[in-house]
Amino acid sequence: MSTTTQTATRSANTDVQTLAAGTYRYRVEVLRVASPVVLEVGLAPVGEHLPFRPGQHAMLGVREPDVPERAYSIANAPRPDGRVRLLVTRYAGGITSGWIHDRLARGDEVILDGPHGSLVADPSLDGPVLLLAAGCGVAPVSAVAESLLASQPHREVTLLFSGRTPAHLLQRTRFEDLQRRHEQFSYDFTLTRDRSSRWHRRVPHMLGRLIGDLSGWEVFIAGNEHFVRASRDAVHVLGAEASSVHTEEFLADPSPQLECQPVS
Ligand SMILES: Cc1cc2nc3c(=O)[nH]c(=O)nc-3n(C[C@H](O)[C@H](O)[C@H](O)COP(=O)(O)OP(=O)(O)OC[C@H]3O[C@@H](n4cnc5c(N)ncnc54)[C@H](O)[C@@H]3O)c2cc1C
Repeated sequence: MSTTTQTATRSANTDVQTLAAGTYRYRVEVLRVASPVVLEVGLAPVGEHLPFRPGQHAMLGVREPDVPERAYSIANAPRPDGRVRLLVTRYAGGITSGWIHDRLARGDEVILDGPHGSLVADPSLDGPVLLLAAGCGVAPVSAVAESLLASQPHREVTLLFSGRTPAHLLQRTRFEDLQRRHEQFSYDFTLTRDRSSRWHRRVPHMLGRLIGDLSGWEVFIAGNEHFVRASRDAVHVLGAEASSVHTEEFLADPSPQLECQPVS
């Protein structure tokens, strides 16, 4: 670690224990096309590893002067070996996401600065949990789900994902596997550009029928600005308390995403 500062992270209604934020060296271990627009990046620490809470993100820096560092959520709960997975959407004209998709190679060294963010579970809450994600918003909620299923198995966890087509269903196999192994976990999805699927409405319009009353629930919402804002309004209408709703907006004004090329 080369620098250390203190970053206080705060959830919707409670202070989260402060973790030391700093910069950490990582090596690229895995590059895998995860959907037509998303590359999965697996990183292994070189030396000391980034401490973080499930749902937090880090600033990723590459060793290129013209490629600015950007925030990426960590898609797994903390592991003893410090390995982390990121899911990176490729945006048209996006400098850093484009560089990661086109130029990042296995064996490259990158820097993670963190931990940052407040999309973390409130330890004082004990009720059911609703996770809502669109696109790469699935990264932080996936980490939260993994952690809650292991540490608080009495809590029901429901994950609802919004994708465009079946090919955009990030981590579908993993979530279906978790659903088989944990009876308290349920996973469902809606496809906004495929009307043949069971659900093809937008998440905010489905919640009333799918779940109903959300009083007493802890809710996590992550994705683009429009998804997050519309979902937040919908869960409030259904009775979720503002203090139990955690949100993370990824990109204020996303431009069209580009199809990924296969990674060698
Ligand atoms: C807390 C947090 C967590 C995040 N986690 C993830 C994650 O897990 N996965 C993920 O893929 N992304 C995540 N993001 C988004 C990520 O940080 C970057 O914003 C994203 O990768 C785009 O960066 P870029 O450099 O490729 O694009 P940029 O070069 O910054 O541009 C992004 C897009 O916006 C357009 N644009 C740029 N500037 C303007 C402007 N002024 N007006 C209009 N349009 C403009 C560009 O043309 C481009 O299409 C997260 C963001 C935050 C804040």
